[in-house]
Amino acid sequence: MQVPFNTLQRFHDSIKPELHQAFTAVLDSNYLILGPQTEAFEKNYAAFNRVAHTVGVSNGLEALRLCLEALNIGPGDEVIVPSNTYIASWLAVTHCGATPVPAEPDDRTWNIDPQRIEEVITPRTRAIMPVHLYGQISDMTGIMDIAQRHNLYVVEDNAQSHGSEWKGKPAGSFGIANGTSFYPTKNMGALGDAGAITTDDAELAQRLRILRNYGSQVKYKNEVIGYNARLDELQAALLSVKLVHIHRLTADRQRIAHRYLQQLAGIDDLLLPYTHPDATHVFHLFVIRTDRRDALQAHLQAQGIGTMIHYPIPPHLQQAYQFAGKKKGDYPLAEQMADTLLSLPLFPFMHDDEIDYVCEAIQQFYGSK
Ligand SMILES: *Cc1c(COP(=O)(O)O)cnc(C)c1O
Repeated sequence: MQVPFNTLQRFHDSIKPELHQAFTAVLDSNYLILGPQTEAFEKNYAAFNRVAHTVGVSNGLEALRLCLEALNIGPGDEVIVPSNTYIASWLAVTHCGATPVPAEPDDRTWNIDPQRIEEVITPRTRAIMPVHLYGQISDMTGIMDIAQRHNLYVVEDNAQSHGSEWKGKPAGSFGIANGTSFYPTKNMGALGDAGAITTDDAELAQRLRILRNYGSQVKYKNEVIGYNARLDELQAALLSVKLVHIHRLTADRQRIAHRYLQQLAGIDDLLLPYTHPDATHVFHLFVIRTDRRDALQAHLQAQGIGTMIHYPIPPHLQQAYQFAGKKKGDYPLAEQMADTLLSLPLFPFMHDDEIDYVCEAIQQFYGSK
């Protein structure tokens, strides 16, 4: 048997007529940028995320950068980010001219640890950017409390956790403005690049609409130095189709995770994903940890099972951030995670016998030690 790490094909095949219909509607409308499809999707997504406003943009990185820029965060400012995240969270801060200041994760949820946030706050700190990694929202009680006490903005990076909730409130609805990504393999994925900002602040939403479109509200009148960071009508139409199915897809991801958790419990040194009692997990990824990661990955590869490492090099050790002068040993938890993490196959419509095959291969690896 071959089990791919991920495939979108089964889901896309199941909604092909709806996708074709959306494509045809856009083609026939001759409206391709900032039109009724974008407006409709923004309304739909705001309802899904339980916020007042969604601003559709070109991708997740732009969403995060525009949030910070709309809050006037720039040179001389610091933004606290997780030491263990996809590099986009850091890049958004750097692109604004501000400095990403890492804080280490909680050892169980692998999300940013509120206590460690507090330790790195300085007079220059302006914002906290929690990243809801792998499908689980961060400890928003702790984070919102610190933000309030220190008068800091919260800007959530919600690229991986569409629909995850903290005490019943969805990811992307806590911060003043929050970025999300609809990169194709995310839980909510477009058929290309796309992203959005979610906010309850009407003034900020309006500012973001201007920033994403050349700093202009009225064509050829430019109020501020803006960008071209718009969401396409075509992607918006396809996203509206997909949004109808998101709850079903999330439930399917949880089914798969549940089966993994049952079958992989108690095996040797394997650490399995932990869900905080105040959180719901939407399993963007199913990430395990083991000291024998590379050998396990090779073993699974030999059995025809695809796996990935999210992420093999923490941002502070990337060549791109050499200028910041961080070195190995500075963020030991992030470094340890990078050395021990492995993401198992997980995608909607994954069959039980595929999950079981992966689990048997893992059991075989540990049994044959
Ligand atoms: C995917 C991702 C982003 C960036 O989204 P893009 O749409 O690829 O620009 C940002 N943060 C995290 C945590 C991500 O996983």
